[in-house]
Amino acid sequence: MFMSGIKNITIGILALQGDFFEHAQVLRNLGVKNKYIKTADDLKNINGLIIPGGESTVMARLLKLTGLDKKIVFLAKRGLPIWGTCAGLILLSNRVRGGNFRPLRLLPISVNRNSYGRQINSFSEPLVVPVLGQKSMYAVYIRAPQITNTNKNVIVLARRLNKQAVAVQYQNILGTAFHPELTADSRFHGYFLALVRKNAS
Ligand code: GLN
Repeated sequence: MFMSGIKNITIGILALQGDFFEHAQVLRNLGVKNKYIKTADDLKNINGLIIPGGESTVMARLLKLTGLDKKIVFLAKRGLPIWGTCAGLILLSNRVRGGNFRPLRLLPISVNRNSYGRQINSFSEPLVVPVLGQKSMYAVYIRAPQITNTNKNVIVLARRLNKQAVAVQYQNILGTAFHPELTADSRFHGYFLALVRKNAS
């Protein structure tokens, strides 16, 4: 259902590979219009963009092939809110260790791909994200990247108990190392949508 008094917005979800369907489902449940982005033309008339989890190496190659990479960077620089989850966070970052592709360089952080070790490739744990309230969310990490460095202008929205940053924001760009789209808790989507609505109004 639409929240009252709120402008009708459309969220683009990059749908080259990965878990774009799960993001679409969350947005559908929230009553928010969304469309899949597969070509540069699809980027017309969207108010925000989600880059899902998946394989950043594959997505990087497809972004380049389709010319979506340049167009996304162009729109980001003009203020389009963009949120990357896991592989999406890797693609948005400035520096990637463990991947032989050039990221979009929209989020001044460094990441280390697949750095949680071989045995523990995936795990989940409670995470408090203060901007979403004190009630913790369930953070799901699937072969997640570690954020190894953040520029001083990057806002850290959440840290694990070991202090490691796992949710970050730089102006209109958001990144999470975990997957809010895989849980029933849509508060992080709500946070992104608030950013989008602010930008669209
Ligand atoms: N390991 C993947 C990568 O490096 C990310 C995994 C994910 O998005 N869940 O691209």
